[in-house]
Amino acid sequence: MLILMKTGATAQQVDAVARFILDAGLKLEKSNGGAVTFSVSQNGARGKVAEDDVLKLPGVARIAHIKTPYKLSSREFQKADTVVQVGEVKIGAGFCIIAGPCSFEDREQALKIARAVKKSGVHLMRGGIYKPRTSPFSFQGLRERGVALLEELKRETGLSFVTEAVDEKSFDLLEPHADMLQIGARNMQNFELLKRASRSKKPILLKRGMSATLDELLMAADYVLSGGNMQVVLCERGIKTFTTHSRNTLDISAVPALKHLSHLPVIVDPSHATGDSRFVPAMALAIAASGSDGVMVEVHDDPAHALSDGEQALTLEAFAKLAPRLEAVARTSRG
Ligand code: PEP
Ligand code: MN
Repeated sequence: MLILMKTGATAQQVDAVARFILDAGLKLEKSNGGAVTFSVSQNGARGKVAEDDVLKLPGVARIAHIKTPYKLSSREFQKADTVVQVGEVKIGAGFCIIAGPCSFEDREQALKIARAVKKSGVHLMRGGIYKPRTSPFSFQGLRERGVALLEELKRETGLSFVTEAVDEKSFDLLEPHADMLQIGARNMQNFELLKRASRSKKPILLKRGMSATLDELLMAADYVLSGGNMQVVLCERGIKTFTTHSRNTLDISAVPALKHLSHLPVIVDPSHATGDSRFVPAMALAIAASGSDGVMVEVHDDPAHALSDGEQALTLEAFAKLAPRLEAVARTSRG
């Protein structure tokens, strides 16, 4: 049983509800989702409470019984689609195109790509500053040196930016400058990072772990929602399978499945899903037709010399050709 407090419920009202539940001999988990949410365990606990009595307590908004293991992210909890606002862009209300390099490598590269993708009609820009890399000998990102670059890129282009936080420290450093923070596939179940994200006022882009089920993804989203940050976008980015023709396998059926299970916006990243720039345009178009709320692609001005993920980066020209086709497909497939 979930007990939701009204927004603006006082601390005394919250305490009174907690006392009422504990006095009835039930177990309680308190979180700060939107207002305050109490997750009350009835199974195996001694006591019982009458729901009518709980509903009468001052400050209580409603009681929800959610049968799925994920709660706040579920469609059962909230029927209406969530729309996540990033700067001027509304993710979940139209098709959103996100593009940019895997990593920002230096000021010139970042500015060149930013100007080009802006001209091609990108809605939101991406770019890694802290990079989670498989090998410690690979480029780890500009890190602290790159944070200030975000402000210059924003000033120069007027675009909003999403960038990845790899731990709590990088989250702290990026939070004031990024418009949206990404939690990557490798960190989908970094629960302390998810809790840090839950305390942020910035929207979160949560990528599906490469071996994560949709239930696990949605429970990870619950970590962010339950701490009071309701601005979460889910991102399918390919999962590990037995195939060798692509880096991962794009699980495009995750889009309709997630849209059915959850009220959160869903976008897809065909770059990490395929790992091959030759496959990216076809998959991006399929994503635009899939009912996804957006696509995120990696773009580079010189893919052959990129410091990370060059094999999967579209050239600036290829992205300029793809962007209007994505818009057209998204328009027609939405009817
Ligand atoms: C990325 O978006 O740069 C990235 C590292 O993606 P993922 O976490 O999906 O591997
Ligand atoms: Mn990458």
